[in-house]
Parts: sequence; C-alpha cells; structure tokens
Amino acid sequence: MIAFLYAQGHLRDEPIPATLPLEFENEVEPGSQVIFTPEGRHRKSVIAYIADLAQDNESTQPEGSITDILNNGTPVITRPNFRLALWMARYYLVHPVEAIGALLPAPLKTTMQDMVEPEGFRLQVQGSKVVATSLRKAILGILAREQRLTVRQLERRLGKKNLYRTLGAMQAGGLVRLGKSFQTTKAKTRTAYRLCQHLDEENASSLLATAPKQLEAVMLLLKGSGVLFPDEQGIRRSTLEELRKKGITEKFAVEITTAFSNQFSEPHISIRQLTVEQQAVLEEMKKAAAAQTFAPFLLHGVTGSGKTIVYIELLKTVLAAGRTAIVLVPEISLTPQTASRFSQHFGDRIQILHSAMSSQEKYQAWQKLRTGKASIALGARSTIFAPLENIGAIIVDEEHDTAYKQDRTPRYHGRDTAVMRAKLEGAVCVLGSATPSFESYTNALGGKYRLLQLPNRVDHAAMPALKLVPMLENRRITPSLSETLYLQIKARLEKKEQVILLQNRRGYAGSILCQECGHIPTCPHCGIPMVYHAAGALLRCHYCGYALSYTNSCPKCHSENIFYRQSGTQRIASELATLFPGEKILRMDVDTTGTKGAHAMLLKEFRDRNASILLGTQMVAKGLDFPDVTLVGVLMADIGLSVPDFRASERLFSLMMQVAGRAGRASKPGEVYLQAYDIESPVYRFLLNGSYEEFYHSEAAIRKELGYPPFARLISIECSSPDEDAAATAAHELGKLLNEALSCDSCTILGPAPAALACINGRYRHQVVLKLRDRLAATTYLKKVQYYLAGRYAQNDLRVIIDVDPQNMM
Ligand code: ADP
Ligand code: ZN
Ligand code: ZN
Repeated sequence: MIAFLYAQGHLRDEPIPATLPLEFENEVEPGSQVIFTPEGRHRKSVIAYIADLAQDNESTQPEGSITDILNNGTPVITRPNFRLALWMARYYLVHPVEAIGALLPAPLKTTMQDMVEPEGFRLQVQGSKVVATSLRKAILGILAREQRLTVRQLERRLGKKNLYRTLGAMQAGGLVRLGKSFQTTKAKTRTAYRLCQHLDEENASSLLATAPKQLEAVMLLLKGSGVLFPDEQGIRRSTLEELRKKGITEKFAVEITTAFSNQFSEPHISIRQLTVEQQAVLEEMKKAAAAQTFAPFLLHGVTGSGKTIVYIELLKTVLAAGRTAIVLVPEISLTPQTASRFSQHFGDRIQILHSAMSSQEKYQAWQKLRTGKASIALGARSTIFAPLENIGAIIVDEEHDTAYKQDRTPRYHGRDTAVMRAKLEGAVCVLGSATPSFESYTNALGGKYRLLQLPNRVDHAAMPALKLVPMLENRRITPSLSETLYLQIKARLEKKEQVILLQNRRGYAGSILCQECGHIPTCPHCGIPMVYHAAGALLRCHYCGYALSYTNSCPKCHSENIFYRQSGTQRIASELATLFPGEKILRMDVDTTGTKGAHAMLLKEFRDRNASILLGTQMVAKGLDFPDVTLVGVLMADIGLSVPDFRASERLFSLMMQVAGRAGRASKPGEVYLQAYDIESPVYRFLLNGSYEEFYHSEAAIRKELGYPPFARLISIECSSPDEDAAATAAHELGKLLNEALSCDSCTILGPAPAALACINGRYRHQVVLKLRDRLAATTYLKKVQYYLAGRYAQNDLRVIIDVDPQNMM
C-alpha cells in the first residue's frame, strides 16, 4: 500500500507518498504517527503523520517508506483535528507540518525522550508465549540487566533500528513499558529583598536620615507588596545591600513562574436560580446542543450579566449527553476567578492547561484528555487543539481579547480556529463578550452567528456612570492627576470605599502625544497615528510610508511637553503616596507581577481590604468582582488613541468598558472618571452613553470607508534582517513583485514601509500590507514569493513572515 504523509523537516504543501510495508498494513490509519525513511542513502529518518492510505498504483512514485510505527499506530491526531490543521495551513499560509506541530505537545514531536523498561513480574507468567523470537529475547535480556534505557540506546545495543513496532507488541503483551523521560528542571529563582522581621519604622527613618535612597527603599517595602527586586522601581542592588549590612533588609530567593495558582481561591457561591434573561439565553444554546450540529453564537452580555454560570449550565447538559467541551480564556494567570469557578463545578472532569506547566505536565494533561479521563479542557488559545473526541460545545470567553492571536508561526486566531473546530465537530460554539470584536459582531449582524444578549447586570445594578475630565481645562494636583479625580479619590477613601486606577499603556509604540494640547500627529491618508523615528528625525506612517519631519515639539502648539515611553505607574504611585500618606497603594504591572502567584496575591490583598487603592496597567481591568470598589479612574485615556493601529478606538472602548465594569453594585453605585485631552474624539461620546451598538455603527462606517477589517481582509508581510539595507531592499522587491502580480482591483498594496517597531532584537523590520476584498486572489502567490525572497537574501538572514488577519499592526 501507499501512505500519504506529512513528515517533519519536509516542508512541502502536498503529502508525500511512501511505501507502507505489508506487515504494517492493518496497524495504521490517518492520524497515526510513524517513522518515515526517505529514499537514498543519506536521508535521515523522521517522524511523520499519515494523512491518507491508498492501494499501490503505477502513477504514484513512493519517495521513501514507512519503517516503524509509533504509539502502536493509535492516531495522535483525531480526524476532525487533522482537517483543522489542514485548514490552518491553507488559511494562515503555513506548512501543514507547522500546523500539525501546533496541535501536539512537545514530547510527542520527538523520539529523543522515549524510554523502555521491563514490566517486572508478569514476565515469567506470560513469557513463554510472547518471547518467541530471538529479537524479543535479546531485548528482554538487555532490559533485565540495564532496567531503563532510551529506545535509541536499545537500538544501538542491538545494532538494529526500528524497534517501535516490536516494543509496542511487547508492551501489549505486558512485557515492557514504553514512556517518555522528562528532565526535572529546578524551579528558577531570583534574589529579592524584604525587611527584617523586627524593625520599627521610626528607627529605620532616623537611622537613614542621611541616606535618602535607602529611606526610599524602606518606604517602598513598607507600602508596597513587601518585596523589592534589585534594579527595579528605581532601587539599585547596592542600596539594598547597604540596608542588608545595616540589618534592615534581608535577602531571599523567590520562585519565578507565572503558573496558574489557586492562591486566589474563592468562596463557593451557589447560585440558586438563573434570571429570566439568563434562562432564555441558556435555552437557545441547549436546544442547539441537543441537535448536535454546528451552531455558532455570539453572546453579547454586559459585565456582571452572569455569563459564566450560563456557560457552566450549558456544559452540564453537554456532559450529561456524553459529549465533551473546550473552554478558552484569554490568559489564565490574569483571570484566576473564571478557572476556579469552572473547577468548583466540574472537579476532576476538567483539565486546566496553562503556559507555565512543565512539558511533563502538558504531556500528562494531553494523555488525560486523549484517553477520556477528563472531558473538559480549559485554558488559553492552544487549548483549542485539545485531543478530545465527540465535542459538544466550545466556549470562547472574552472573545474580543487580543491574546487569542498567536504571535509566532502558525499565527492562528484562537477564536476563529474555535469556530472552525466547532464546525468540523458539529458542536455549539459560544463567543462571549461585553464588547464583541468588530469581526464577530459583523458576523452576527450578517447572520453568520446567532446573536444572544444579556443587556442587564444580574443584580439590576445600573452600569456605572462614566464622566470625562478634560485635562486641558482642569487644575492639576500633580503632573498626572486632575483636581477632579483627586477629590473623588479622597472622598471614597474617607468613606472607606475602594478605588481602582488604570494607567493604560497598551502597545505604546513610539507615537507622539502632546501633554499640553493633546495633539496626536496622524497620517492624512490612513487615519493612523504616525510613529517617531529618531534616525532622520521623522514622523512616519508605517502603513503607507508617508513621512513628516519632526523637531521634538508638538506640530500643533509647539510645546515640548511630549509623552514618550515612560510607563507611568511607578511615577503615579509615588505621586499618590505623597497625596495620601497613610494609604497603602497596590501597584500592579509587569514589574510587580513577575513572580509566582504575585498577581493573585495582589488581588487577594485588595479583596481582603488590606489596601484601598489598586493602581495598574490593563491587568487591573480583567475580571474580578470587588464589591467595595465605587470609583474607577483612568489617568490618561488618550494613550489608547495614540496607538498606530486602526483598531485603536475599538480597543480603547473595550478596555474602558471592562475597567468600568469593576465599579459599583446595586447597593453601592459606582462612578468612572476618564482623564482625557482629546475630549472631542467620538469614542468618548459613545463611552459616556454606554452604547456598544452606536459605537460599532459609527466606527464601522469609518472602517468601511478606509477599507479596514472586518470589511476587508489584511495580510501583512514582514521582511526582517540584522542588515537594515537587506530588509529594506527585500521589502521593496516584495512590493514590486506583488504590484506586478496582483494588479487587480480586489486588492490594495500598502508600503513597503518600516514597521512601527522598526527594530526588534537586532532585526530591522520592513513591511508590506495587503488589503484584500477577495482573499484567495493573493494567497497562492504569496507563499511562492516568501520562499523566493528567503532564498535570495539567505546570506542576509532574511526572514519573511506572513501574518493573515494581523491583530497587531506594529
Ligand atoms: P460576567 O462574566 O457576565 O461579567 P459573571 O459571570 O462574573 O458576569 O457574574 C457576575 C456576578 O453575578 C457573579 O458574582 C455571579 O456569581 C453572580 N451571578 C450570576 N448569575 C446569578 C444569578 N442568577 N443570581 C445571583 N447571582 C448571580
Ligand atoms: Zn501640543
Ligand atoms: Zn499612511
């Protein structure tokens, strides 16, 4: 027979024909993992995946043969998942092998760690029958002596290759055990400093009267999370060492991982009855699930409308019908609450997957799902590939979140892949959000998804009132804080209520924002903020390449008070410390959440009311309920608009709605204050009236006119190289080739232009962006150009990256 397979290291789009020896014929099927040995003396044997089987025929010329079978031939990829991988390969313009790679945990993609050991006692009992051949006897002889070997070592000892099938049969006969070995890696640690146990503040202050830096460190330790890392928060290692010598601080080691930790365990809340709205939505979904056919839904439910319990109820019926389910969340470590609610309901039947798992844990979780020991997989985007069979429902929570798009090859979108998987599996797919992505909402309006709505909060609390603080007119108490917001904070603290402050710095990429007049220089052709390039003193549009000279002052009011890169949270924290001396301020950003469980610990401290101000980046906006928060303040909302990305308004709108959702309950209404410069910007108007629909329609009209998604498709192609000239020349050639090949009216070619982040890790980046009305027009050609350019500029280490439906345009 002939097997058609995809082989590692053979980056070809079509499956490779290979001879399947007679002895293997009944042992493999599509999805089986095998060893493929190409024709010719010096070609290396590699792992391959069988796509299809066919009878021998004259027209197919095998290019090698299958020489061994892994996993006893049991498919490692289910049939629907195989089709999903091939869809990904076609849609995202990657090789099928790369797409298949995304489906499997790392240990399955190598035979390096395969171990074999004797199965112990059963040897005598069953021995006589199975140990028939001399090969098997020899294997048992070696294993009896050496106990545990890699399959490779065993092959070397015997001077034989391709033992998997034999070992598989011996395993089935209870003679040996096959497994994977894992290096146990020691947890990574980092040195940190804390205050010694017995230390009183006054003593320390007097001691340090002559050393202001040391005093600052001590104050930070007293007020913050109690831990300082050297060279962070403006404190040097030498300062902390000085303090240690004086017996004020001590050194200790902190484990660093971002593991999902249940440190944020929640009291079990049992919900007695669904609201009428929840019930109606749930009925729709249950009906669709009972039909066991593909049914995509968009659940548009405001924050606090109780979406989670609806998901849980849906999953209960899916499991009761003997089917399985997948739940996607944007990032587990940031939303410990969602994961813990699902665990509470499903216990052992749910397998949580997260990025900080070791490869052994990931492999075990995969096995658990593959063998049906768990029936729900919950995790971030790659969980969509969970090896479950008979899937009844797929839920994508916070479907608008940008974390669903993978930023390395294959650059798939977890949400879109979820919809496709549900289609292949005949499952219900629920995309849930308070601020749906424009893509999904457009699909819902067009009838591709069914729109379900939860327009009210569960407890019928009003959505918090949003107010705009015009920074140009308001008196400022500190550089970042207006008098209005300051007075609001003060009032809440006096009432012993809690405050969340957000400094949005999402994706800041070198655009210019004038702190005097609020001006953001924008490309007249693309409507996108321009980016500052120090070399050449230019402002440049990185979509179309349009450039203006720039002289470090605002083009509109000539002020030199320009907001650049500073994160701000640290500075704002110290401003707040001066204004509210008695208050403990929790700061949550990348600096303070790098250690294991730090994020959950900060949330816990805030929930337990050990602090009344939580200040941070967008992390503070993510899903948690704090009943005593009555005020949310956004320090500089305009930063969100200065991002050079056509989705800037959409992202700002959804972030603001999300953070606003943190404030207020029925008993204690909340308020949200947005400090802003460009108060005329339409996005604020829609935020104030709280209407997602109106915002959508207004913004959609602009997108339609300028030809941006979801009314056109984008594909960006980046050329990067350590050699700037090579990157630019290649991008130029790319633009030229595309212009020649695609000169049709269904496509616009933007660029080439330097990327907004012009250089990352020593690689210079230039890009071309395609706007397509008909996606198919370009795709086959693009891959050819990709290979051609990578080959032509190989000596310049050129990489050509194709990003289909790019989410990040920088
Ligand atoms: P969303 O995800 O839509 O923002 P959640 O699912 O987090 O909302 O629910 C918000 C809060 O309402 C949670 O504390 C939840 O326990 C509570 N809740 C949800 N449904 C009900 C209900 N039917 N009755 C009482 N409380 C509910
Ligand atoms: Zn200005
Ligand atoms: Zn432009």
